[in-house]
Amino acid sequence: MADTQKETHGFQAEVRELMKLMIHSLYSNREIFLRELISNASDANDRLRFAAIAQPSLLDTDSELSIWVDADATAGTLTIRDNGIGMTREEAIAHLGTIAKSGTAEFFRALSGDQQKDSQLIGQFGVGFYSAFIVADRVEVLTRKAGSPEESGVRWESGADGEFTVESIVRAERGTSVMLHLKSDAKEFAEDYRLRSLIRRYSDHIGFPVLMKKPGEASLDYEVVNQAKALWARPRSEITDEEYAEFYKHIAHDFTAPLAWSHNRVEGKREYTSLLYVPARAPFDLMQRDAARGLKLYVRRVFIMDDAEQFLPLYLRFIKGVVDSSDLPLNVSRELLQEDEEVEAIKSGLTKRVLDMLARLAQDEPEKYQTFWKEFGAVLKEGIAEDPANREKLLPLLRFASTNESNNEPTVSLARYIERLKPGQERIYFVIAESIEAARSSPYIERLKARGIEVLLLADRIDEWIMGQVDAFEGKRFKDAARGDLELGSLASETDKHDADAALKESKGLLKRVKDALGERVLEVRPSTRLTDSPALLVLGEHDLRTTMRRVLAAAGQKAPESKPVLELNVTHPIVKYLDGEKDAGQFAQLAELLYDQAALAEGGQLANPAEYVQRLNRLLVRLAGVHEAQASTP
Ligand code: ADP
Repeated sequence: MADTQKETHGFQAEVRELMKLMIHSLYSNREIFLRELISNASDANDRLRFAAIAQPSLLDTDSELSIWVDADATAGTLTIRDNGIGMTREEAIAHLGTIAKSGTAEFFRALSGDQQKDSQLIGQFGVGFYSAFIVADRVEVLTRKAGSPEESGVRWESGADGEFTVESIVRAERGTSVMLHLKSDAKEFAEDYRLRSLIRRYSDHIGFPVLMKKPGEASLDYEVVNQAKALWARPRSEITDEEYAEFYKHIAHDFTAPLAWSHNRVEGKREYTSLLYVPARAPFDLMQRDAARGLKLYVRRVFIMDDAEQFLPLYLRFIKGVVDSSDLPLNVSRELLQEDEEVEAIKSGLTKRVLDMLARLAQDEPEKYQTFWKEFGAVLKEGIAEDPANREKLLPLLRFASTNESNNEPTVSLARYIERLKPGQERIYFVIAESIEAARSSPYIERLKARGIEVLLLADRIDEWIMGQVDAFEGKRFKDAARGDLELGSLASETDKHDADAALKESKGLLKRVKDALGERVLEVRPSTRLTDSPALLVLGEHDLRTTMRRVLAAAGQKAPESKPVLELNVTHPIVKYLDGEKDAGQFAQLAELLYDQAALAEGGQLANPAEYVQRLNRLLVRLAGVHEAQASTP
């Protein structure tokens, strides 16, 4: 049978990269391989227990699911064995030769080659099985899929040289055994004492017994080394922070400790336990809305599925954890989860838990919250639009860049903003631009800045969408500085009002001439209350779409409703004064066009005809140069 023959396969390019990187960058943290392999064994047992719900015969006579760790110091080998689900030949080739995760290739392209940085990145990727090669120069896997005959065993082997072999064998035991031939400098991992302490440190929370031979020369008896109780089923008071952190690493395939967690048991009409974690780092596929996400679902301690996404809203997709329900049926499927009332109720309970946990983190550990915000803020924000019911809980969690730079807070909360309101200030001002820097120097906020009124600076792609949904915070309305009237209210002094009236009266003629020159492109031309340094800008109506948003819609093939901006002129600006003095109608129109185009650029727009703009600008420059030359040549 061709099938039993030994075949040689090459690892997928990404796997080769991963192995190389791991061996170099995880050198100081080599012991994590044991956690990864025990974690895989535990998953394999979980999967068998789940499969056995529908097909009890799978468990056969071997129904005590366990994990065995055997070391042979003389031979320099270490074996991690489970009696779980096992793998077929095809599965062994696919699972131990490739990385199935979507976006893997992109991830590896993002690696810089800088080991320090890359070892950070690799943590968010999860190293899994391949971590065996950190300590072993040869790895042998023997496996047999649960329910398949003994002849369908598989032997997989690799010497980390870019290739692996597979052959079919006869194997009596169900499940998988991974034998590591330890490198000469990794022999410590065959020492009984060292292994026991690593298992207790890293795998205590695994819900299956991890067994080792009793100490003593020829002992054949095994004893349980870990607690072998699902961590979330233990009382909170008995669990240490280290145990919580280790459990996180197990379920999240992340080896950075989490920022926070929340462990709760709900009793009564509905019973479930949840253990939810906030990671410290965003996974590389966070912004792919279709990437795997969700919690590990258990029903009465029995593992049901990974990535159960029905228990949290999309905007909390970065949360990792476990939910263990006492009420759902064991045979629950993804489809059933989708329309289940019970699941909806748990989801709303868990959503509140997460938001409370974040509020606590923001309150008690602001520095960690900063980290959280940097990694996940852009995703959490989606909740403003997605989850109106929890908006009141979400608003205080938002953080913004701001024009207030008096102290070194990198971001400001709305509560802080409110504390710093100027007397008489009734609005929370914000401005949206392509980048925070562009927002900071936006002409729309010149006057606000000049008066020391704080402005929130926004530059995320979704900010326009989000800010369109929020109305007020603690009774203060949000105000986009690029729209309509600035609504300064009593912030505007009597002198301001007087100046504005005077400006309007004095510049009436100019405003009309500019409007006539620009025609239908602008709704109106009026003196500006916003500007101090720039000559002109375009103000949007309260509900008009920003140019950048129009572009997004256009790219998606949607038509945006037409709208016309208002052109505001800074009537005290030298260019505007010069314009006012321009008697030649043609020159006047040229300059008015130029101001309009500049204003459109500052709003984030693209010019309909950039070449024409450049020509116009050059004509003006030539004219000015001509004036200078003429001046220079007059004696
Ligand atoms: P991950 O566990 O994150 O999927 P790994 O690299 O650790 O990634 O493992 C790849 C795949 O190999 C697993 O998803 C699983 O299908 C399979 N696998 C690994 N170890 C075992 C095992 N002990 N028993 C059965 N399958 C396993």
